[in-house]
Amino acid sequence: YDVVVSGGGMVGSAMAAVLGHDIHFHDKKIALLEAGPRKEYSHMPDSYSNRVSSISPGSATLLSSCGAWDHVCSLRLKPFQRMQVWDACSEAMIVFEKDDLDDMGYIVENDVIMSALTKQLDAVADRVEVFYRSKAVGYTWPLPSHSCGTSPWVQVELADGRRLQTKLLIGADGHNSMVRKEAEIKNIEHQYDQSAVVATLYLSEATNNSVAWQRFLPTGPIALLPLSDTASSLVWSTSHDHAAELLTMDEESFVDSINSAFWSNINHSDFIDTAGAMFRSAISLLKPSGTAVRQLPPSVAKVDPESRAMFPLGMGHATEYVQHRVALIGDAAHRVHPLAGQGVNLGFGDIACLAHHLSAAAFNGSDLGKGPSQHSALAQTVTTSGLLN
Ligand SMILES: Cc1cc2nc3c(=O)[nH]c(=O)nc-3n(C[C@H](O)[C@H](O)[C@H](O)COP(=O)(O)OP(=O)(O)OC[C@H]3O[C@@H](n4cnc5c(N)ncnc54)[C@H](O)[C@@H]3O)c2cc1C
Repeated sequence: YDVVVSGGGMVGSAMAAVLGHDIHFHDKKIALLEAGPRKEYSHMPDSYSNRVSSISPGSATLLSSCGAWDHVCSLRLKPFQRMQVWDACSEAMIVFEKDDLDDMGYIVENDVIMSALTKQLDAVADRVEVFYRSKAVGYTWPLPSHSCGTSPWVQVELADGRRLQTKLLIGADGHNSMVRKEAEIKNIEHQYDQSAVVATLYLSEATNNSVAWQRFLPTGPIALLPLSDTASSLVWSTSHDHAAELLTMDEESFVDSINSAFWSNINHSDFIDTAGAMFRSAISLLKPSGTAVRQLPPSVAKVDPESRAMFPLGMGHATEYVQHRVALIGDAAHRVHPLAGQGVNLGFGDIACLAHHLSAAAFNGSDLGKGPSQHSALAQTVTTSGLLN
């Protein structure tokens, strides 16, 4: 294969779909390896998945470039026009909103993105071969200047004994990336000592629900992301013990905990309020800012009983994104806290950057995996990657 993408989550699948739809890759062979099953909706379920992502307009553009965004739009998404982020201990608040009526972003179920990408991978099946339920269990790296008898390509061994070889291996195998470990790329890691509790929530009454809400509690941020006029998705980052408690409490107590996390002023402190007001007035002398209108979040009435789950949170950053014949993208390269809703958006940014340089290399007839020596596609990726600059 010219390119093997290891890991078919949202980022690896989008990488393979984007390359598969690139005109300069028309004569290239791409393989996508995914340990899990194929994910595609034959019909849209009524209930929402508890795993959703806030998708930026830039990510929507990337997904459009391989035709997947149209499928997302025809399946299910909820645009939002405003974000209100505020503090539980003071009056501090920040509002993000567009001056025009454009969408700020979209809340999309991860399964919807996967289903859309699967459709677009099917559309380029002649160029992209997808191996589902196929786990990569070992990689053999070529020597930089290959000596007699050794392969110049990366060898990939699958759990069922099959072997593939490729000019360029793209590691999109998540935050525990085996590609990263086997390539001996260091990863700077930190566990936040927090878990995120997710759930699908139903509102007390229908609203236009076009605001993403986030409140900073002393224990961590809680976010309410719109799914429809009557439903929202919860992401509550808190201590592991509190997360476990939230998962096991009865539904009524769970809903009460969420409403009081958004509404209660029990953590308000006059001292923090006064200090904050003084700080803000000092700042406003230097840089006057407008006063945003504080809105009240909707109240929650019910939780989808099947939807409560928790995920431990950590950060990670690979010290290198590319090496000779290897590139890392998505969580394999960088894992961030979900509070800013940026994880998969950063991964889609990696794809835009890497695909741009690989497309140019394919057009010029250059070796796709060579690098990161000067002028190679991988070297260009290092110098133009937004994260590294
Ligand atoms: C609670 C929560 C909320 C979040 N909210 C947002 C948000 O609002 N916006 C946002 O941008 N991001 C968000 N994120 C982050 C986002 O979910 C991740 O950044 C994103 O899922 C990473 O995608 P990925 O494809 O890189 O990795 P993964 O999703 O981890 O996919 C890796 C894939 O590789 C496969 N794999 C692994 N090893 C192998 C192997 N050896 N062989 C073959 N296949 C393999 C796995 O089966 C998996 O499918 C959130 C994260 C959490 C935990």
